[in-house]
Amino acid sequence: MSHCLFCKIIQGDIPANKVYEDDQVFAFNDIHPKAPTHVLVIPKEHIPTLSDAKDPAILGMLMQRVDHIANDVLNLEAGYRIIINVLEGGGQEIFHLHAHILGGKKLPF
Ligand code: AMP
Repeated sequence: MSHCLFCKIIQGDIPANKVYEDDQVFAFNDIHPKAPTHVLVIPKEHIPTLSDAKDPAILGMLMQRVDHIANDVLNLEAGYRIIINVLEGGGQEIFHLHAHILGGKKLPF
């Protein structure tokens, strides 16, 4: 989608610190990290928010990639947290579905 920031990052039109990419997802460091490791994992398909993901396979794929990236790319053996903010009330600022991976320290609730 032409006006979507995360679509522009996928296309390379806006720079990002990429940590992983395959045919279905793109992952990069959050520009304002909330933990020592803070990575965003986004599907390459433009899906505005969680409620728009009508195909359960997309969500299963996204969770599988999150776990792969956390364990095998970011080496978060001690564990990590996933956050998906949904709509303004949930704190969503960028309307392209994304999972935050947070780790690298013991996280308070
Ligand atoms: P959310 O509030 O769940 O929509 O999260 C959006 C996240 O995107 C925030 O944590 C921002 O810090 C992050 N962000 C915004 N712009 C960029 C960017 N250009 N590169 C990397 N992360 C970004």
